[in-house]
Amino acid sequence: AQMPNDLEAFWMPFTANRQFKAAPRLLVSAKDMHYVAADGHKVMDGAAGLWCVNAGHGRQKIVEAVQKQVAELDFAPTFQMGHPKAFEAASRVAALLPGDLDRIFFANSGSEAVDTALKIALAYHRARGEGSRTRLIGRERGYHGVGFGGISVGGIVNNRKFFGGLLTGVDHLPHTHNLEKNAYTKGEPEWGAHLADDLERIVALHDASTIAAVIVEPVAGSTGVLVPPKGYLKRLREICDKYGILLIFDEVITGFGRLGSAFASEHFGVLPDMVTMAKGLTNGVIPMAAVGVREPVFQAFMQGPENAMELFHGYTYSGHPIASAAAIATLDLYREEGLFERAASLAPYFEEAAHALKGLPHVIDIRNIGLVAGIELESRPGKVGARAYESLVKCFEQGLLIRTTGDIIALSPPLIIEKNQIDELFGILSKVLRDID
Ligand code: PMP
Repeated sequence: AQMPNDLEAFWMPFTANRQFKAAPRLLVSAKDMHYVAADGHKVMDGAAGLWCVNAGHGRQKIVEAVQKQVAELDFAPTFQMGHPKAFEAASRVAALLPGDLDRIFFANSGSEAVDTALKIALAYHRARGEGSRTRLIGRERGYHGVGFGGISVGGIVNNRKFFGGLLTGVDHLPHTHNLEKNAYTKGEPEWGAHLADDLERIVALHDASTIAAVIVEPVAGSTGVLVPPKGYLKRLREICDKYGILLIFDEVITGFGRLGSAFASEHFGVLPDMVTMAKGLTNGVIPMAAVGVREPVFQAFMQGPENAMELFHGYTYSGHPIASAAAIATLDLYREEGLFERAASLAPYFEEAAHALKGLPHVIDIRNIGLVAGIELESRPGKVGARAYESLVKCFEQGLLIRTTGDIIALSPPLIIEKNQIDELFGILSKVLRDID
């Protein structure tokens, strides 16, 4: 077989440019806040890669840790074996998680972490003699990756409708975003906490004894930076507690400092039963993901089946030595440079800069929290996403990489960004938005 040489014809199926049919922009190197494209063009990274490069690119400490590890121990089997770095990485992650979220399971992508968490939820209930609890509840506009678990509980119909064969018994809570009531809100909207009460409706419909878990992104990222209304997540927690339903926070984006704390659960003061994470765990350098599980949940499901053979889970690359080394070096960097605190202290400046875009043509909403902002553009009739995509292309030409989703622009720069770089980022974006028709 021979790979067709049609890169120019947007060859990367299912990952790039299917909607707008353009060749991918090729990136060849990166350092700190910047990428260099194949033609030598330098662009500021306004997206932390894909919400993952929180400590900036090409960090020497991580490079060295990876080099050393690959020379020392390149792989260790996952089953019946282990290696010290995986344990060290796990205990470092546990130390960052709030409460008794002390047990860590490694996976290799956010999608796998979501699958792992959903499986643990079902196993937990079965182990407690409540095997009837199999229903899973997600949220409209929730994104949980592209595995069958993730697209089933995910709230993006377009991501699942072509693939059939989904998990059955899934319901979705309404999303909380309301452009009429919450447009241009800074931080958490005042309106909408009661939308969590829809969980009561689902419980009434199916009976609590059938419901295993609720999974939500604390702040929905991929669907356009949707910040939950004040009190929403607390209310979800209360209702889950009332009915013995597990609450899972998918912190693949919100974890590792994006909101100015290690995890969103800390930021919002809500302790979920499980937390999924990936991306920032290794600063994007090497695939690695994890699920943090509360001690009692872990104890219950690990002691579940009488026949231990019935509780099989784990990936070939779970806790991979190189990924573990990268994670440890990354967590060192976050701590040494105080990057989570840095995100928190830069957040008000970032907020002001984002909201200064108000009034530019087509901008119908601006929302933000920590070092992440969503700028929503009005769609051209019949051409959802076209305006934001054109902004992406023009920003790239002007030296800025952004992320777009539909007609929403998402900004999530590395947490090492300087104030003058925040000015530059929003300067480029506002210039581009001024010219978009
Ligand atoms: N959950 C959330 C909240 C995400 O943002 C993502 C990725 N954007 C995923 C899960 C899936 O992660 P991955 O692409 O690594 O499978």
